[in-house]
Amino acid sequence: MENKRWHNHYPNEIPTSIEYVEKPLQVFLEESVQRHGEEKAIHFMGKEMTYNEVYSQSQKMANYLQSLGLNKGDKVAIMLPNSPQSVIGYYGTLMAGGVVVQTNPLYTERELEFQLIDSEAKFIICLDILVPRVTNVRGRTHLEHTIVTGIKDYLPFPKNLIYPFIQKREYNMVVKVEQTEDTHVWKHLMEMAATDYLEPEIKPKEDLALLQYTGGTTGNPKGVMLTHYNLVSNVQMCEAWLYKTKDSRQSTLAVLPFFHVYGMTTVMNFSVMQGSKMILMPKFNPNDVLKTISKEKPTLFPGAPTIYIGLLNHPDLHKYDLSSIEACISGSAPLPHEVQEQFEKVTGGRLVEGYGLTESSPVTHANFVWNKRVNGSIGVPWPDTDAKIFRADTDLEEADIGEVGELAVKGPQIMKGYWKNPEETEKVLKDGWLFTGDLGYMDEDGYFYIVDRKKDMIIAGGYNIYPREVEEVLYEHEAIQEAVVAGIPDPYRGETVKAYVVLKEGSNVTEDELNAFARENLAAYKVPRIYEFRSELPKTAVGKILRRRLVDEEKEKLSKV
Ligand code: AMP
Repeated sequence: MENKRWHNHYPNEIPTSIEYVEKPLQVFLEESVQRHGEEKAIHFMGKEMTYNEVYSQSQKMANYLQSLGLNKGDKVAIMLPNSPQSVIGYYGTLMAGGVVVQTNPLYTERELEFQLIDSEAKFIICLDILVPRVTNVRGRTHLEHTIVTGIKDYLPFPKNLIYPFIQKREYNMVVKVEQTEDTHVWKHLMEMAATDYLEPEIKPKEDLALLQYTGGTTGNPKGVMLTHYNLVSNVQMCEAWLYKTKDSRQSTLAVLPFFHVYGMTTVMNFSVMQGSKMILMPKFNPNDVLKTISKEKPTLFPGAPTIYIGLLNHPDLHKYDLSSIEACISGSAPLPHEVQEQFEKVTGGRLVEGYGLTESSPVTHANFVWNKRVNGSIGVPWPDTDAKIFRADTDLEEADIGEVGELAVKGPQIMKGYWKNPEETEKVLKDGWLFTGDLGYMDEDGYFYIVDRKKDMIIAGGYNIYPREVEEVLYEHEAIQEAVVAGIPDPYRGETVKAYVVLKEGSNVTEDELNAFARENLAAYKVPRIYEFRSELPKTAVGKILRRRLVDEEKEKLSKV
């Protein structure tokens, strides 16, 4: 790749270009079994599994899917929290030649139905407590087979005996699923032989490994087509970036859900490639995470700002030893500087900001973990990744240094397109560039900055206001735990700035005090006109605050007036 200004900052250990493995993604698992078969792959609620075990169970999954009639390219939906089954279901599907369609276990029936119909999934692997939701929509979809598993299937004795009682208490459900022609019980499937499946012939640059529906923060989600090569290359980039972890037997805290491409690439596929251990957490609960870190001592902890914020605000934080943590990459939303500093102080490790999106498998930028980093910046493009800022609404006209425009990226990790949606694909893929919909700029050194999402920019009284800038200021206030700013409809100014804030436990602050603080730090037109105090903010599965949902709530309220 030609020399770019950001390459001047690359340390010797990180190549600007990599030779990518042109093999199916599952090659990472096959190779790790050769090298580390007896090493631990998974830690899940007290139970551990080796790479040999994960591999042989993935083979059984592949074998079973093929015995049910799976043909190359068939879609297999997975609706599971992080668990051994989510890893085995994923790799088993790929080994059988299927395409994984991740669905969020929190989806409502309506969301699930849309995704199953759109993806044309024939199989679904789901958690037992989700069966009623699947059953209710199944008849309207292409589903032919449901494979059912329960958390207790992988719990150590005696937790597996106690779990049904917990399930009854937490979900008010006792789940018993019988093996039938179209409903399959995990235990039954694990009785299959491990070796009978036919290895599919995969063309890594053409064949899809994943159909990944984007966060859905706006409108109906679209299926992002990611090939084996897209995912393999992003994982290899990840390895190059975290070069110090290459030969060490590190372990990674898997709090980010694998059903989002961020956790899938940077935690699951990356750990499998390195043959290292994943410590699986089925959901984010600050208490459990703190306990697990101090007991299991993970070294890597990829996350999102709200995850780090949640831990920092835990009242017993100081009681836990978090010193095993060496490196964290924060993505999916802007990382407030305060949070970065505090988290580094508490752990003694490094926390750097990165950036990406589903359409790019997902990572395109990050700060260097052990070299120069710039606060407030998403860092520099990864190896083989090009990035440019284009002037808004022009035909590929490049912006000057420091000028805000739309960020576009190019590289081997960029998607093939949107599934069955050439019009939307054409809007974002131009001349090999993926237009991200994010507004930002590049500085003299080649570091990039996101100012906001194109669609989140507020226009109030003719002024452009970037919510992120206002939020950064609010986060500096000592009483604020979380803040999000949105443009809500206003009859005079078009939009007006509203701030939604969650206060730290035991803190007290009035609207007037917050307003005075904002006025000290922001030009008058950017200062929120309205403040709303909430006990929590709506978030996506990776902890991104759902700004659009708040705006929609506001619009709905107005329509009723
Ligand atoms: P998703 O496709 O769900 O991964 O969402 C991708 C979007 O998350 C991007 O287009 C950005 O708007 C946002 N995003 C990701 N990382 C960052 C970051 N470090 N700072 C600001 N926004 C980010």
